Amino acid sequence: MPAVNLGMPSAKTLAPRRKSRQINVGKVKVGGDAPVSVQSMTTTKTYDINATLQQIAELTASGCEIVRVACPTDKDAEALKIIAMKSQIPVIADIHFQPKYVFAAIDAGCGAVRVNPGNIRKFDDQVGAIAKAAKDAGTSLRIGVNAGSLDRRLLEKYGKATPEALAESAVWEASLFEEHDFHDFKISVKHNDPVVMVQAYRLLAERGDWPLHLGVTEAGPSFQGTIKSATAFGILLGEGIGDTIRVSLSAPPAEEVKVGHQILQSLNLRERTLEIVSCPSCGRAQVDVYSLAENVTEGLKDMTVPLRVAVMGCVVNGPGEARDADLGVASGNGKGQIFVKGEVIKTVPEDEIVQTLIDEANRIADEMGPDARTGTAQVVTA
Ligand code: SF4
Repeated sequence: MPAVNLGMPSAKTLAPRRKSRQINVGKVKVGGDAPVSVQSMTTTKTYDINATLQQIAELTASGCEIVRVACPTDKDAEALKIIAMKSQIPVIADIHFQPKYVFAAIDAGCGAVRVNPGNIRKFDDQVGAIAKAAKDAGTSLRIGVNAGSLDRRLLEKYGKATPEALAESAVWEASLFEEHDFHDFKISVKHNDPVVMVQAYRLLAERGDWPLHLGVTEAGPSFQGTIKSATAFGILLGEGIGDTIRVSLSAPPAEEVKVGHQILQSLNLRERTLEIVSCPSCGRAQVDVYSLAENVTEGLKDMTVPLRVAVMGCVVNGPGEARDADLGVASGNGKGQIFVKGEVIKTVPEDEIVQTLIDEANRIADEMGPDARTGTAQVVTA
């Protein structure tokens, strides 16, 4: 098979990763030199084991690497064992209020347990026992500080959930675990305001080598939440801060995973998959660029091959961009010049452009092997 020149941008990141200690969340390594992992959270009732496992399977298929499940009742705690056993990806039990569920989740074989010190009753008194149980079981923890449930003492001290208050809460809880010689935990300090959140993580990153889980909490519906998360994660990850991420959206969780991967790809923290480079169109356009880009994206949406496809509206930048891509079209006069690896391979009528690009992309994907053809497209505007 001929080698395919991928034509991708060089994989440079904006800054070296912050040096964090590495922990295991089940089989997934978090921190150190491990890739930044993408998490999501199920929306099912955890006690509905079949529904929860079904959603975890869908999330796994969409690229989710670690999944969190809520555990508010005894029934949910009882379900954890089967869910942790049958899930293909590590399961984190999310525990609020009841320390007994922390122990249940550890016993159930969860990959990790998220504890929110701000709303677990008498949490500080429980740290020794939690640390021992987690250490004995080889389970890691996440100390999940959240603006909405900040420790009362810190709220009194700072008046509200400031970056300093969030970081101080996390550092305090981390020190309690470290006093018990327990170090297998990551930390999150979430806030719904990206600016506060970024400042809190920056403060935290200076205070220790804990792996950090990034999240903008209650980020909102898909459009707003995507922008808030991309803005905040972009700043932090661009500075090398962050070891695992969760995009919180009021939308189906697979959407969170898709956005998470796109953010990492945009920062060259993940290999880029399918990238559509399309022009925004203007008065010079000689085809309907929006439809063309949409139809090509739709036709290729199930591919993850590292492939750059240029869809350009006219000859101003069209040939240049199309030549730089693995595959492209420069349109004009009711026709499309189709480029593959910089060479014009054919000129087709406008109504055949989409199908020709899809056929050529599939041909290139075939050359790259059978595993390369699931996933989602990334659209870039030229
Ligand atoms: S490629 Fe042509 S149509 Fe597209 S934005 Fe540039 S000049 Fe306009």
